[in-house]
Amino acid sequence: MKKIVIAIDGYSACGKSSTAKQVAARLGYTFIDSGAMYRAVTLFLLNNDVNLEDAEQVENHLDQLEIKFDGDSILLNGDNVDTAIRTKPVNENVSIVSAISSVRRKMVNQQQSIGKDKGVVMDGRDIGTVVFPDAELKVFMTAEMSIRAKRRQKELLEKGIEETLESIERNLEERDEVDSTREDSPLMKADDALEIDTTHITLEEQITQIEQLAKEKINED
Ligand code: C5P
Repeated sequence: MKKIVIAIDGYSACGKSSTAKQVAARLGYTFIDSGAMYRAVTLFLLNNDVNLEDAEQVENHLDQLEIKFDGDSILLNGDNVDTAIRTKPVNENVSIVSAISSVRRKMVNQQQSIGKDKGVVMDGRDIGTVVFPDAELKVFMTAEMSIRAKRRQKELLEKGIEETLESIERNLEERDEVDSTREDSPLMKADDALEIDTTHITLEEQITQIEQLAKEKINED
């Protein structure tokens, strides 16, 4: 059967990763959370006391880090960092790190090589615009801020991380602002992406909708 690439972009905490993961499972595709990769780079730089404002210093450290996926888990130089990449210091610095071109180059190369044989669902900010501009299915997800913050709070609690709604909202707003206004690969909807507002629909509805769209594309000649 024909394999396609599914690109899911959008603002922070709109349910992109939860949706992408389930869509991939239903289609038997590989799921890649590209945000987790930028988070892992940020964790590495913070752990090594690198000055994040110094793009040259950041670039000089990139050779020392290797990111791999093991199923749905992310490994940073062999260590599982699934929980460590969701903590506040990473939330607060990831958008600064993601704006650095050398970081983006390294991540985009790896993402493109993972997706070269298709059969992949990748979520992020620039997947439909930069990483896979020829993706067969592109989705751009949005949702109202209050809903996004509540959903994110619940997700964090499930991981044992407690944070107030105010602090979550502030972080989501800040990240959206930096992600949308950076020079290199800003967050934006690809012209040919389908916009889905997830404010009033359930996760199951989001998953089914994208699964259906994917099946239509897969069955197209
Ligand atoms: O998806 P998530 O919210 O975990 O992404 C964390 C951060 O990683 C985003 O706020 C953004 O700065 C960065 N990112 C990016 N490009 C992607 C995915 C994530 O710049 N494709």
